Amino acid sequence: MKILLFGKNGQVGWELQRSLAPLGELIVLDRHSTDLCGNLADLGGIGATVRSVRPDVIVNAAAYTAVDKAESDAATAHTVNAQAPGVLAQAASAVGAWLVHYSTDYVFDGHGSRPWEESDPTGPLCVYGQTKLEGEQRIAALCAKHLILRTSWVYGARGGNFAKTMLRLATERDRLTVINDQFGAPTGADFLADVTAHMVRNILPGAADRLVGIYHVAAAGETSWHGYARFVVDWASTAGLGLKTSPDRVDPVPTTAFPTPAARPHNSRLNTAKLQDSFGLHPPAWQQGVARMLTEIT
Ligand code: NDP
Repeated sequence: MKILLFGKNGQVGWELQRSLAPLGELIVLDRHSTDLCGNLADLGGIGATVRSVRPDVIVNAAAYTAVDKAESDAATAHTVNAQAPGVLAQAASAVGAWLVHYSTDYVFDGHGSRPWEESDPTGPLCVYGQTKLEGEQRIAALCAKHLILRTSWVYGARGGNFAKTMLRLATERDRLTVINDQFGAPTGADFLADVTAHMVRNILPGAADRLVGIYHVAAAGETSWHGYARFVVDWASTAGLGLKTSPDRVDPVPTTAFPTPAARPHNSRLNTAKLQDSFGLHPPAWQQGVARMLTEIT
């Protein structure tokens, strides 16, 4: 099996390099790759890459993920998140490849408290969410063999993440203030990559058309950013890291306390029943992955 991975150095892309490696020949690209074009802003280039490699599976982990910047740079976000997935879909279809792609709970408007199901009506609140939704739609229209994994609150051990920021602030400040009216499940890039590898193994033997579609993929359980921060501080206190603050000095504040250019959904909960039923996979509790990541980085 030949797998072509775009976005090899992002949080998820990095973990995919590990999880996809045992499945066959893996060709990995980022925007700076020279032999083959991996720059999603070069629409002609990525189409040519697919036609030249003729992979069995394309995995696209590249995206314009700067949510606030997208508000003032909508054209680039649209090219990378909407047009490029469309080009990959068309090229995948032309060479008979599957396309595996990632999307986000930001395609929803974030109302209510019920975990979103795949078939729920969308209604993005920001440019990033709009462009990601359009990317989904283009893929569904142009490539019959696709898997779109919508996820939320992704962290990886490599690079910056919310937990690392909280750890640093907890060593610098007496008190922290963290938003407590946005809810979701912190989801590990390693978990997403492992789920992707399982899914790819299941689609390849053929006759997998029934598996085509969108899947919600997130860790089990839910919390707020405030709950997440408290968990991190609690873990670090128990581990004996020298902190200036403690879990009871992590103060809850509403989203309005931290205005941002892009509106964020209050409800980022994702219902993963379809993933569980279709692929027999069972997401672990979010605390398990976060504790593991904290152990790795401290
Ligand atoms: P990252 O921001 O860690 O990685 C995105 C990667 O895309 C980076 O390596 C970036 O490269 C690359 N990229 C950006 N623009 C281009 C371009 N023009 N050409 C090629 N590569 C480009 O994101 P994640 O790994 O966290 O996200 C993976 C997927 O999951 C994305 O589809 C994202 O929308 C989705 N997602 C992420 C969430 C999150 O909380 N992070 C939540 C929900 C969904 P460079 O570093 O050079 O800019």
